[in-house]
Amino acid sequence: MTTLTNPFEIAREALRLLAARRIPPTPDNYQTLYQEIAGTKPAAEVFPEKQLRSLAAALPKATPEQLRLARQLDEAVKAANWDDYKSHLAEFVAALAETQKLAWSELISDLLRQWDAKHFGLTVARKRESLEHVLTSSGANPETLFNRLQNLLRSWGQGREQEAGSGSEVAPPRPPEAGTASAAGEDLLPEFRQLFAFTLETAIASQLIESPQLSSDAKTLANDIRTASSVAQMREFLTRLKRFAFKLELLAEDQAELRHSLLNLLRLLVENITELVLDDRWIHGQVDVVRGIIDKPLSQRALDDAERRLKEVLYKQSLLKASLFEAREAIKHMLAGFVDHLADFAEATSDYHDKIEACVEKISAANDISELGTVLGEVIKETRTIQINAQRSRDELRLTQQKVRESETRIRELEGELEATSDLVRHDQLTGVLNRRGLEEIFTKEIGRSIRHDTLLCVGLLDIDNFKKLNDSLGHDVGDQALIHLATVCRETLRPQDTVARYGGEEFIILLPETALDDATVVLTRLQRELTRKFFLNGNDKVLITFSAGVTQMQAEDTQATVIKRADDAMYEAKGAGKNRVVTA
Ligand code: GH3
Ligand code: MG
Ligand code: MG
Repeated sequence: MTTLTNPFEIAREALRLLAARRIPPTPDNYQTLYQEIAGTKPAAEVFPEKQLRSLAAALPKATPEQLRLARQLDEAVKAANWDDYKSHLAEFVAALAETQKLAWSELISDLLRQWDAKHFGLTVARKRESLEHVLTSSGANPETLFNRLQNLLRSWGQGREQEAGSGSEVAPPRPPEAGTASAAGEDLLPEFRQLFAFTLETAIASQLIESPQLSSDAKTLANDIRTASSVAQMREFLTRLKRFAFKLELLAEDQAELRHSLLNLLRLLVENITELVLDDRWIHGQVDVVRGIIDKPLSQRALDDAERRLKEVLYKQSLLKASLFEAREAIKHMLAGFVDHLADFAEATSDYHDKIEACVEKISAANDISELGTVLGEVIKETRTIQINAQRSRDELRLTQQKVRESETRIRELEGELEATSDLVRHDQLTGVLNRRGLEEIFTKEIGRSIRHDTLLCVGLLDIDNFKKLNDSLGHDVGDQALIHLATVCRETLRPQDTVARYGGEEFIILLPETALDDATVVLTRLQRELTRKFFLNGNDKVLITFSAGVTQMQAEDTQATVIKRADDAMYEAKGAGKNRVVTA
């Protein structure tokens, strides 16, 4: 087919085809056929900017959603993007349909019911005020209004007054199936009052021992809520409760501040102790531990630990002070003795000078040799006396010096003995973990805690395998290092709240609070694995340390002794079964 170029011919042909193909003669169909015959492309679809803009302008813009839609439509028009325009409009209409689905009729009947019902501390005037607030603050957005109204009614519902008998005709709030819940709520109210009173009286009042006024306020409030029978009394109670809560808040702030100041004071003290004892590395170590403890969030366990360490520091300090005092006394004695001897010596020598001078005079006055003989005899006698005196002084000085040295050594020995036997020291000096005394103390506390909080407490006892052999083959010092290594791995592997104590030579006890028996077994097995990973190095030689352990759980009838005995029995079972294993009792 030849392409027609004359517009008249194209137009005529287009009309002919419309008739021949029985196509409805609409402008669009005519245009399509015209372009088909002329061989031109369909004109780009014209974006009906003007119409769409006027449609957008005609839509209401009363709510934030409507405003947002107008803006979106406007942007779509600017970008000549029909798809965007279409989707924004469709979304908006769909959301509108959603809003219409909101259960308005239920909400309104609920509102009517709640309006008529009586509520604690809520007058009709208060209800009106809060309702007006919801109405004005929700603007024209039905969804917001719906949600806010629902919340308002819920809050009224929670304050609903229990009214003996007459309360039953008051219909329950939404949701409708909550009817029984509300009735139950009324039944629970006396119980709630009792519990609230009990909480105020026992739990809260007993926490306020240091604020007697507030403590007595809590008791009065408890009494009030038990006896309040009218709405007026209830309202009065609420007012006082609010005041009480406000005072409690202030008290909490005061206490937080107090705690902060106390901690600062403790920090200051700790810093000063370090400065006072410059040369004792052990004390420095302990003080560092205390500082570490108080720098972390406070817990009862951390405070106990800090207290124990500080006690030891103070004890060590008193020992040092005593020994320093003794040493100073000894030196003072020595000096006093020395001065005495010097005086004696000086006296003796001045005596000697006098006598010698007298002899010299005698010699010059002597007329014959026989006179000289007696004078010489005198000189020799005096010289010998002075010699003996000097020697005696020297000997005595030496003796005193030796005595001082001996007493110094004795002081050091005593200090060591005291350290080893004193029941004030709670940490093992070799490994730094708790000793038996320290264990006993913390064990008592952990048992108390587990009873108070009704939590489980597990105890593990471990004994190094073939330790004697290690000592025999590598020496006692290496044995000591191995003990330190084991204690370190224990500390690194266990949780901060777990306790490690050296129970005997190569036996350790581990307390695992808030831990079930199965978990405790897992913990000890993990400790075994860690020991094979972090092996002990003797110079460049890796030395494998293993242990056998027994684990058991503290029972109500247990004492420290019985529970340790059970763990010990289980440990022996582990030894008997070939060592390097954990047995659960
Ligand atoms: P088993 O596997 O049956 O436990 O054998 P063992 O050799 O570990 O046990 P045994 O009770 O026969 O020996 C324990 C050894 O531990 C004996 C003792 O010399 C040593 N020991 C105890 N306290 C210390 C210490 O403080 N330092 C060192 N180096 N050795 C210690
Ligand atoms: Mg042993
Ligand atoms: Mg052993």
